[in-house]
Amino acid sequence: MTSKIIDGKKIAESILEKSKQKAKKADEKPGLAIVLVGNNPASEIYVGLKEKKANELGFHCERFNLAEDIKQDELLNIVDDLNQNEKIHAMIVQLPLPKQIDEQLIIGAILPHKDADGFTSVNLGNLVNDNNKLLPATARACMELIKSTGVEIKGKNAVVVGRSNIVGKPTALLLLQENATVTICHSKTKNLAEHTKNADILVVACGKAKLITKDMVKPGAIVIDVGINRVMGKIVGDVDFDNVKEVAGHITPVPGGVGPMTIAMLLDNTLQAMELRR
Ligand code: NAD
Repeated sequence: MTSKIIDGKKIAESILEKSKQKAKKADEKPGLAIVLVGNNPASEIYVGLKEKKANELGFHCERFNLAEDIKQDELLNIVDDLNQNEKIHAMIVQLPLPKQIDEQLIIGAILPHKDADGFTSVNLGNLVNDNNKLLPATARACMELIKSTGVEIKGKNAVVVGRSNIVGKPTALLLLQENATVTICHSKTKNLAEHTKNADILVVACGKAKLITKDMVKPGAIVIDVGINRVMGKIVGDVDFDNVKEVAGHITPVPGGVGPMTIAMLLDNTLQAMELRR
């Protein structure tokens, strides 16, 4: 059996096109601020991609490149200015932040209705209460890709590998909202394969190259690979794609799966933030 490849790039393009049309019709430009601290090469790439797409969609996009050694108070002031800025409907502060900065403090300073990434406690709390407002973009991306298969989620066994606040936990909560039976695995999980082999839907977000091998996947499962790992100059996911695609029913590639969808969801969040302000 060979799986159907879920073409995240293509699905993302159609969502971006819809966002472009929405932006065109709006009476003001959707405004997104992107704050990058330091010179982390991966962060620079992600920020560049987000900025490029935002501009292509006709958004008003402001990028802030800040020094690695910026003081926490200075960063807080910038976030506060953006909170007050009428042209800015939503902002992202690219993570990770340098050691001298308390990430939670900075994320907590973003007004919840301007929180494009959906990382504030208010937005995560709304998700726990099934009162979705701005959702973490990667978790939304995973759900859209799962739904694109047309396979019913209700009643399925879903396993999420990874329990970060920005990917694993929110994705697990969204699967729960869709009435899947959800298991969350993490670095202390014993016998990971016992859990993953039981998954009709397997979402992997742990940042360990090719951790999930063919023998760990249930035949016919939907496999969503969030991981981005650099191995000998190549980007690979957390799933051993070439072999797992022989058993999975549907699978996302890396690159070209969750990555482009995350950007599409982030820009859709910006449009949602504009609606929320109204
Ligand atoms: P994180 O480091 O915050 O969390 C990793 C999680 O994986 C932890 O909960 C940890 O317990 C778990 N884990 C680690 N080793 C494990 C193991 N051997 N078995 C089971 N669980 C294990 O990472 P994150 O921010 O959630 O990101 C995860 C991956 O997804 C990274 O590769 C990251 O680059 C990628 N990512 C991709 C996108 C995208 O748009 N495609 C967005 C965000 C993150």
